[in-house]
Amino acid sequence: MSHHFISDLHLSEDSPALWQLFVSTLQAWQGQIDSLFILGDLFEYWVGDDDDSAFLQDMLAAMQQFSRHTPLYVMRGNRDFLLGEGFCQRSGALLLEDPHLLEAYGQRYLLSHGDALCTDDTAYQQFRAMSRNPAWQAAMLARPLAERHAIAAQARMQSEAAKQQQGLSAITDVTELAVLALLDQYDWPVLIHGHTHRPACHSYQQDNKTSQRWVLTDWYGNHGGYLRLDENGLQAHALIAGHQHD
Ligand code: MN
Repeated sequence: MSHHFISDLHLSEDSPALWQLFVSTLQAWQGQIDSLFILGDLFEYWVGDDDDSAFLQDMLAAMQQFSRHTPLYVMRGNRDFLLGEGFCQRSGALLLEDPHLLEAYGQRYLLSHGDALCTDDTAYQQFRAMSRNPAWQAAMLARPLAERHAIAAQARMQSEAAKQQQGLSAITDVTELAVLALLDQYDWPVLIHGHTHRPACHSYQQDNKTSQRWVLTDWYGNHGGYLRLDENGLQAHALIAGHQHD
C-alpha cells in the first residue's frame, strides 16, 4: 500500500482535459492506496464553498465518491485558500493545516503547499498575511458570488500578465533560509511541497543533520504527476491522460 501526493492541478472550467485526468486518476486509485494528499492549488481559484458551478459539482462528486473508499486530505494553496467546511462536506475531504506532519514507514514527512517559503516575494507575503486573516476572509465571502467570481477573474489576469513579463523568476522560488528554518523547527523531517512548479528532489545538510526536499510537479495540458510513498520511500511518477494506470 502507499500514500500519494499531488498538488497544483489548477483545475478550472477552462481545463477540461485536466479535470478528466483528475477524475480518471481518482477512479484508478480509489481503494488501491492508503490515502491521497492534495497539497494546495487543486483549484485555479476558489471563491467560496457556496460556488455552485456545474464544473465544480462534477469535481466534488468525483471526490465524494473517492473519499467513501480512500481517505482524502486537502491543504489550501495560494489560489484556493478560501476552501472551508462547506468544501469538506461537498467533497468528503479533510482539510489539513499548513504545514502538516505525517509519520509513515518509520519516517517523518512535513507537508506544505510551499508558498510560505517564498520569502523573497515580499509583496506576495504581505497579501498572504492579509488574505489569511479571518476578518478579511469573512468580508470577502460576504460579497455576492458573481462579484467574487469577477474579483478572481481579475486576479488571474493580473497573475498571467505578471508571468508573461517575468517568466519563472527567482522571486517565485523558495529561499534556502526559509527551508532551513522550517527543517530546524520540525527537527529535520523530509519536506514535501508544491507551488513552485519546479519538480525536483533537493538534499540538505547542516552539522550532522541531513534531509530532502521533494517538490511536486504541477499539472498542465493533459499531463500530471504524483509522488508515491511506500516502504521503499518516495518516488515521482508521471500521469498522462489515458495512461495513468502505472
Ligand atoms: Mn501555489
